[in-house]
Amino acid sequence: MKTVVISPEIATYGAMLIGGVVRDAGHEVRLSTALAAGDAGAVLLSLYSTQHLMDPAVKAFVASVREEGKRCYVGGPVSAYPEYVLGELAPDAVVVGEGEETVTRLLEDGVSPDLPGIAYLDAGGRTVLTPPAPPAPVRHRSMPLIPPTIGQQSVRGANVYIETHRGCTGACTFCQVPRFFGREIRSRDLDEVRAEARAFKEMGVSRVSVSGGTGSLYGYDGTTINNDAVIALLEVLAEEFGPKNVSAPDIRVDALTDEVLEAIKKYTIGWLFFGFESGSDSVLRQMGKGVTVEQMHEAVAWSRQHGLKVAGCFIVGYPTETPEDYEATKAFVEEEMLDDVFISVAEPIPKTPLADLVLRTPHEENPVYVPHAGEYHSLHLTEAEARWFDLSMHADMYKPLLHVVTDEVFNVYLTEARKQGEDVRRVTGLIEKYDGA
Ligand code: SF4
Repeated sequence: MKTVVISPEIATYGAMLIGGVVRDAGHEVRLSTALAAGDAGAVLLSLYSTQHLMDPAVKAFVASVREEGKRCYVGGPVSAYPEYVLGELAPDAVVVGEGEETVTRLLEDGVSPDLPGIAYLDAGGRTVLTPPAPPAPVRHRSMPLIPPTIGQQSVRGANVYIETHRGCTGACTFCQVPRFFGREIRSRDLDEVRAEARAFKEMGVSRVSVSGGTGSLYGYDGTTINNDAVIALLEVLAEEFGPKNVSAPDIRVDALTDEVLEAIKKYTIGWLFFGFESGSDSVLRQMGKGVTVEQMHEAVAWSRQHGLKVAGCFIVGYPTETPEDYEATKAFVEEEMLDDVFISVAEPIPKTPLADLVLRTPHEENPVYVPHAGEYHSLHLTEAEARWFDLSMHADMYKPLLHVVTDEVFNVYLTEARKQGEDVRRVTGLIEKYDGA
C-alpha cells in the first residue's frame, strides 16, 4: 500500500526513521511535511508537540483522510498519551512509544488486539491499549528515508538532528525523554552513525546536531562518561561535515569531563547548551534536575576554561516557582553573562510529573494563570508571561555582546510571552480534560 509519513512543518528524524523502516519492509513510501495524503492509501502522522492535538488543521486532516476511506495512524512523542490522541484526533490507531517494531505490521495487518504497541477505540468507543511493544533495537536498523529538501531545513541552525543514542539517566519532572525512551542509554554503533551521516550529506545536509537527551551520554554504560566514545562520535561527524557544521547541544552540567569539553572545542562549533532551567536550588529540587546551582556555576566556569561559549535554557512559571526563585534565576543569568539564553514557560507535557503537579495546583496559585501585578501590569500579562518577558530582556542586557532592546524586539518578546502563556494554558486545559479530577 502506498504510504506517506507526515511530520508537520519539520522533517523530524523520527519520521525519517519510520519512513526508512516502512521502505525496507517493501512498501512504497514518501515523506512529507504538508498535511496532504495525495495518492497514499495510508497516512502515518508523526506528531511531536501536544499543540498538534489541538490544531484545527491537524484535526480536519485526520478526519478527511478517514472520510476518504484511507487509514490514518498517529505516532511520535504524543503517543505517550494515546487516550488524548484518540480523543482529540480519532485516528484509526496510535502507534505507542517507539514505533519501529509495530508500524509495518500495522500497515500490513491492520488494527488488532494481538498487535503489541498500539491503542485504538473499539466499537463501543472505549480505548483499547495493547501490551507495550519491546524497545526498538538501535543497532542494525533501517537507514532513514531522507527527503530531497532536507538541506534547506533549519532547526535551531541544523538541517537535521542525528540520533546517536536513546534514553537519559535524568528524571526531570517536565521532560518526556526518560519516560519515552527509558533511563538506560542505548547507543548506536559508530559505523552506522557514520554511514547515516554520509547518506544525509549526499542528500544535501551540511549542518547537523547530535540528538539524544544528553549528548555526552553516547556510549555510557551506566557508570561513567565514555570519553573515548564521545570523542570518536564528534570526530566522525566533524570529518563528514567539518567542525563548524556540527553542534552537540543539550548537555547536563553533571555529564562533563575535560576530554568531552576538549572534543566539543575541537570537533564542533564550540558551544555548550545547558538545560539550567532555574537559578533556585529549591526549584531545581522540585524539578528533579539532580544538580545544584553551584554545579551550574562550576560547569560554566569549566566550559569557559576550555574556550567554549555557553548557552542556557531556562524554564519560568513552574507551578511552585516563587518571586524569590525567579529573582534567583535572574541573578544567575546576570552573574554568568551567558552567550545565549533560551526561555520557556513551563509546559506540562501529559503524563509527566509536572503535569501531575499542574493538576494539583489551583489556577489561582499557578503562575500561568495568576495576573501579573508588578512592573508590567499595564501589559496585562500573567505572572509566567511577565517572567518570560522580563528574563528575555534581562538576558539581553547581560550577554557579552551588546543587544539593544529596540521597540521591535520589545514587541517580539511581548508577542512570544503571550503566545507561550496561551499555549501552556491550552495544554493545561487538555490535561484537565483527560486526567483532571
Ligand atoms: S537531563 Fe535533559 S533529557 Fe534528561 S531528563 Fe533532564 S531535561 Fe530530559
